[in-house]
Amino acid sequence: MERVFNFSAGPAAIPLAVLERARDELVDWQGCGMSVMELSHRGKEFMSIAERADADLRRLLNIPAGYRVLFLQGGASAQFSAVPLNLAGAEDKADYVVTGSWSKKALAEGRRFLHANVAADSADTGHTDIPDPTAWATSNDAAYLHYTPNETIGGVEFHFIPEVAAPLVADMSSTLLSRPLDVSRFGLIYAGAQKNIGPAGLAIAIVREDLMGRARPTTPVTMDYHQQSEAGSMYNTPPTWAWYIAGLVFQWLLEEGGLEEMERRNRRKADTLYGAIDGSPLERGLATGPAWPIWPATAAPVAWTSSASCARPGTASGRIQMHSAWVRPSGDTARYATVVIPTPPRAGARW
Ligand code: PMP
Repeated sequence: MERVFNFSAGPAAIPLAVLERARDELVDWQGCGMSVMELSHRGKEFMSIAERADADLRRLLNIPAGYRVLFLQGGASAQFSAVPLNLAGAEDKADYVVTGSWSKKALAEGRRFLHANVAADSADTGHTDIPDPTAWATSNDAAYLHYTPNETIGGVEFHFIPEVAAPLVADMSSTLLSRPLDVSRFGLIYAGAQKNIGPAGLAIAIVREDLMGRARPTTPVTMDYHQQSEAGSMYNTPPTWAWYIAGLVFQWLLEEGGLEEMERRNRRKADTLYGAIDGSPLERGLATGPAWPIWPATAAPVAWTSSASCARPGTASGRIQMHSAWVRPSGDTARYATVVIPTPPRAGARW
């Protein structure tokens, strides 16, 4: 079977080795006579799967003591609500940095539950850059500062971790596990699983212990970090299959060399794509008017994303077409373009 390159919105590629292992274990997990999908989440078999996934994620990210890892449901969007409900009261204030679609959604949800202060908003540039952190209007008494290190749709990515007094809360849905991370800088990290972790339906939260146990009394119990943590993320039936696949992805990442190696591969992928973008006669600007100018190939890309659909390599339709937005180092503004890479690498080839 020929695998395709998937550049679509939503769920992303899962390593073939993981899919093959899941296929081999689908009907009978390690001789227990059942599929993982059929295992009791409270039985020793699934407990071993769950504990190994937790331990492997801790190893991968070098998660320090004093942080709990939660395997939750509701996607990253449920965390937009869980964050204010767990970390602040209705009369409290929290800072939000708005750099695109996802941080806007997090802010909108935050506004439903507390006094959300917009510390910075890049709306004036069409969310194509990151407002200068020295100019952020943070509050003295913020319960937390929320930001989105990688805006999956617009493609704006932070290449620094903000230094703020309030606990830092980060929506890492499309960046977690793509490179090493200093978890100790954060109060709370959360991510929907479907980009780098595993199947949709699972969300990971990494919560600093001192931020737990503060949920307001009206917080739904399934969203309460403390209660979920005390229950080993099993207050109710967890998404066992998604948790299992995430665990296989963690094992694969460790076997392949961990997040340093992933960073190296991701850098290579980015260089390949940017190289094609820099070398391509850009077909047309999507914003308005004539084609945008091309940057010199030497300018390092800051961020890039695509919203293309899957490309089947080696066939007539095997071109990668991307509607792209990217941001250059300070001084340049973002440009939008449709880029066509006529000969994508072979399927399965190492980038
Ligand atoms: N935040 C970011 C940065 C995302 O990329 C996404 C989805 N791609 C979401 C939130 C929403 O995730 P979910 O669909 O799991 O709720």
